[in-house]
Amino acid sequence: MKLPVNEFAFFLRGQARKNLKLLVLYCFFLFLMVMTYAALFTVLMESLEGRHYSFFTGVYWTIITMSTLGYGDYVFSTDPGHIFSALVTLSGVVFMLILLPFGMVSLFLAPWIEQRLRYRPKTQLHTDYSDHVIIFGYDSITRALTRKLISHHTPYVIVTSDQDEAIQLEEEGLHVVFGRPTNVTFLKNIQVANARHVVANLSDPLNTNICLTIRSFCDTPIATMVDEPERTDLLRLAGANRAIPLKRILGSYLASRATTLGAMAHILDAFGKLLIAEMPVKSTPFVGQTLAEAKIRQQTGLAVIGLWERGTFTIPEAGSVLSPLALMVLAGTREQLHALEEITDEKDKTDLVMVLGHGRIGCSAARYLERRSIPFVIIDRTNNLECMDHITVIGDATSRHLLMESGIEDAKGLIVTTNDDSTNIFLTLASRRQRPHMRIVARSNQEENVDQLYAAGADFVISNASVGANILNNVLEGKETIFLTEGIDVFRAPLPSTLVGLSIAESQIRPKTGCSIVALELPESIDPIVSPPPETILVEGMGLILIGSPEEEENFGHKFRKNS
Ligand code: ADP
Ligand code: ZN
Repeated sequence: MKLPVNEFAFFLRGQARKNLKLLVLYCFFLFLMVMTYAALFTVLMESLEGRHYSFFTGVYWTIITMSTLGYGDYVFSTDPGHIFSALVTLSGVVFMLILLPFGMVSLFLAPWIEQRLRYRPKTQLHTDYSDHVIIFGYDSITRALTRKLISHHTPYVIVTSDQDEAIQLEEEGLHVVFGRPTNVTFLKNIQVANARHVVANLSDPLNTNICLTIRSFCDTPIATMVDEPERTDLLRLAGANRAIPLKRILGSYLASRATTLGAMAHILDAFGKLLIAEMPVKSTPFVGQTLAEAKIRQQTGLAVIGLWERGTFTIPEAGSVLSPLALMVLAGTREQLHALEEITDEKDKTDLVMVLGHGRIGCSAARYLERRSIPFVIIDRTNNLECMDHITVIGDATSRHLLMESGIEDAKGLIVTTNDDSTNIFLTLASRRQRPHMRIVARSNQEENVDQLYAAGADFVISNASVGANILNNVLEGKETIFLTEGIDVFRAPLPSTLVGLSIAESQIRPKTGCSIVALELPESIDPIVSPPPETILVEGMGLILIGSPEEEENFGHKFRKNS
């Protein structure tokens, strides 16, 4: 309910405030007039007509007469009484029926309408403005980013070239400027040169143009989204410091989680030689065992740093049971992952994944599967004109008949990636009913639909908005972070000097901050020490790779980084 509050505020400012005082004075004047007439009424009735009435009857008579209603229940029968009645009616007409409405219109209504018509959103920022994040293009991703920036008290401004959008966002309480993002004067006026970071989240050509324009006068860091992954280099060339091919990232996230093939662990990300990968428990001999019984670290050197099960991420303990539906998040070197592949069951080679939706995300999921020789079927209502490589089954994916014909009964995994969340929820629910044990991963275009998709039965939901916002936020904060899920990051930090020479147990990192050490990186090219035991001594020059929530990461910064 922002609007009424804003409108109300209008009457408390400047000229409108003075007018409001005038109105109060005028009402007081009317009140005095009514009181005087009421008193005169009782006196005249008594003296001219010999009738006695109360003062309140006088007030009633005055109001009825001034407003020209004149019910006639109390009337004078003498000439002076008639003259008095006429006087009261006339002053009612002038002061109540003409001047009051006129005053209301000219002092309040007209200025208010005028201010609404004259309203222009801000087109520049004060020259003192600095260290702000400038966001071009407001959508679900930058909305999620803006929420993060607000919660961190980071100054930001959203740029839009659409005046209606500017007004709407301003009414939502957001900080907006209105102007053309490729106009140098405008960019200078919103203090791009003093900004902390620029986020370009428009189309690829517009983002390119923004980068080039900004680079013509300053070197503020720019992070840009890229729709077509092949254009990443082009955007870098135009001056972007980071070009993020979000759709490709989302496609691989979806695909890597949809396949149940055990022969490979799916590499999510890397910190130098330390790889973070995911693997379905189902394809390992560890099904049903506790983490302690599985002895994964002893056999391979890998650390199990997380477990996903039906959309819930937990940091496992020794007693955590490895259920067949769970997905392990592993940290380790390439060799260690290979060692795990050696001991996993490779017979289950008949994976088939269905991809519903052949947009950019669906296409990039298909490419991921293709690179790993995993068979897949793509269904889409229309042909993807930008992709010549994938044969698409044309039809509506909500048709049960079409899904059956395309082989959903044989599929082990399903990727639901249309651009419509209601369709995605429907497809997830229908497929879950039909195939209770199939691995279903779904994309959520709007953050608010994540829960519904899980409720519909998805094993895994990837939210475009929160993945995009997290990647951008990490870029803005200059953090080298791997985003596992909302609320859990894997991040790198140099060993604080105060901890040199202590063992991990003595360092008290976990009790003091809540973060756990995933691995230690040694200087030069030696392999990282994955899941180091508590007695390991921390030596100068070591790097830490930790897992924790953003708050725990902040704790780490406060407790250790400052005095390191
Ligand atoms: P993105 O590029 O983000 O993946 P797109 O909008 O390009 O998003 O892709 C979504 C794809 O999903 C489109 O190709 C669209 O035709 C497809 N789609 C949407 N609804 C259905 C449906 N009911 N059945 C099949 N395909 C669908
Ligand atoms: Zn394709």
